[in-house]
Amino acid sequence: MAERMLQFVRLEQRQPDKRDAEQRRQDFADIYNRFDPARASQQASRCSQCGVPFCQIHCPVNHNIPDWLKLTAENRLEEAYEVAAANNTFPEVCGRICPQDRLCEGNCVIEAGFDSVTIGAVEKYITDTAWERGWVKPPTPAREVDRSIGIIGAGPAGMAAGERLRRRGWQVTIYDRHDRAGGLLIYGIPSFKLEKDIVLRRRQQFEEGGIRFEMGVEIGRDLSFADLRARHDAVLVATGVYRARDVEVPGNELNGVVPALDFLIASNRKGLGDEVPEFDSGAMNAAGKHVVVVGGGDTAMDCVRTSVRQGAASVTCLYRRDKNNMPGSMREVKNAEEEGVHFAWLSAPDAFEGENGAVTGVRAVRMHLGLPDATGRQQVERVPGSEHVARADLVIKALGFDPEDLPGLFGEPALGVTRWGTLKVDHRTMMTNLPGVFAAGDIVRGASLVVWGIRDGRDAADRIERWVEAREALPAAAE
Ligand code: FAD
Ligand code: SF4
Ligand code: SF4
Repeated sequence: MAERMLQFVRLEQRQPDKRDAEQRRQDFADIYNRFDPARASQQASRCSQCGVPFCQIHCPVNHNIPDWLKLTAENRLEEAYEVAAANNTFPEVCGRICPQDRLCEGNCVIEAGFDSVTIGAVEKYITDTAWERGWVKPPTPAREVDRSIGIIGAGPAGMAAGERLRRRGWQVTIYDRHDRAGGLLIYGIPSFKLEKDIVLRRRQQFEEGGIRFEMGVEIGRDLSFADLRARHDAVLVATGVYRARDVEVPGNELNGVVPALDFLIASNRKGLGDEVPEFDSGAMNAAGKHVVVVGGGDTAMDCVRTSVRQGAASVTCLYRRDKNNMPGSMREVKNAEEEGVHFAWLSAPDAFEGENGAVTGVRAVRMHLGLPDATGRQQVERVPGSEHVARADLVIKALGFDPEDLPGLFGEPALGVTRWGTLKVDHRTMMTNLPGVFAAGDIVRGASLVVWGIRDGRDAADRIERWVEAREALPAAAE
């Protein structure tokens, strides 16, 4: 039966039930149980249908949230899915891994005093139902168009752009150096946050819709950037950012001090059933080890929680600021704490100590937050005499990512970059300084979020189409 809206005054917020932390520690399955239909409908009915929906304003893809909540409350799930899919290529992914506490839910007007509507969980419920009932269709166009796009990178930005252009009949080829599509969705983010079949089935659908994938092709090595440009009417660069920031302390070269992404890729590949020698040898495996993860973002949270599941003897997260200043999602910190991770706030590494070439500990120093700097952020200062050693036989460095040197890798020195190494684009056209070369996602924004990658990919598709149309119109206009 259809629920009335505005039920937040009567119904409490109920997020989907979480599995017991002890059980979660044993496997890599999703930690949340699914809403049942009654709970989804009830929770959606808590929405007060704001005339100016702040949830929507703060959603990067500008989702029409009040509409799909109302449709869910009325059990009109297929329509709810249509509305959710209209602005978002991967609503099933965003419902799972958007930091909703900072985006839609964090800005829900009933947040104060009543707790927000459970927007992400409802989005996940609608789209999971849509997949089960066959409402999600491949991007098969009504007619073919003789225009072609080459997309470098099969992450969320590249895939979102490819899907949008393919639906309009474009010939779309996506190139990626990895063997599986998804970018960080497949090899970065662990499956307890995003199950891998969710990502894999999208590629399958895209292929059914006529999108071509050239996997295992690194542009700049296996195929030159110039040859790629010659093959297509336009090119979209959506390569993400992969140069791991390092920590410049003594002992960095010791065995057992590893970059976060190498650790996560090994774990994800193992979960996908691949041969992973570095995991089997123990080099990229936390089983039985005392693990220290350095960093406080989402990548660090993924590393600590992966280590727990691999059977680490202990897991400590070392972060130089305090909990309130962590860049990672508070929800993920809470999940990690429940799963037994120890957080050493206001602590930074001074050195990695070792014996016989292998790490044995982290010499850490306590920090305190001092006066704000020019950006308004409190500076971190050492507390003299607070040095101490934390035992560690695996240290994972999760300090964020910068762009690789794309002009160098592509053999295209004219390709314009910012002083941070991200690609410079005209923000109205999303085009780089090279005609017909567009860019989207992390390679433009710097390390960001999946939902922003999707938004950028979709926007880039529109701009690319406009640019190609304008170029095609030129000779006619000149006549
Ligand atoms: P990517 O996803 O990085 O995809 C880029 C693709 O380009 C890759 O497949 C790469 O192989 C390919 N590529 C690169 N260079 C070449 C080349 N020369 N030739 C061919 N292919 C190339 N965001 C969230 O919203 N929620 C989260 O919970 C979250 N967790 C995260 C956890 C981790 C560990 C990390 C690292 C990131 C996380 N993020 C999260 C951020 C999010 O994953 C990224 O913002 C998003 O994936 C960026 O999308 P993209 O398409 O720009 O790039
Ligand atoms: Fe919220 Fe992300 Fe969904 Fe937007 S896409 S409604 S931010 S979960
Ligand atoms: Fe509904 Fe909250 Fe969005 Fe208002 S802000 S429309 S109450 S979800």
